[in-house]
Amino acid sequence: MTQPSHNQRCGLCGGTCEATTITHEERRGTHLYVFENVPAKICGECREIWIDEEVLQQIDQLIETGVPERKVETPVYDFPRAIAHAH
Ligand SMILES: [Zn+2]
Repeated sequence: MTQPSHNQRCGLCGGTCEATTITHEERRGTHLYVFENVPAKICGECREIWIDEEVLQQIDQLIETGVPERKVETPVYDFPRAIAHAH
């Protein structure tokens, strides 16, 4: 595996993937975890986003033991009730 990772091919369409960073959201039960500036690859053809297995494992670890940068309040809507109150 000496191939630079940014030359990875898209698993969907075979297009060339480019390195990028994304905001990744991970849901665990009722908790939502947000990771900013996550290294990922985006397909130049179909725009599919790919995250390395290694990075996903690191995210798993951070959810368990990591120290978040900050916390945000996440508005949660019950759709029918929210619609009813909107009128
Ligand atoms: Zn693709």
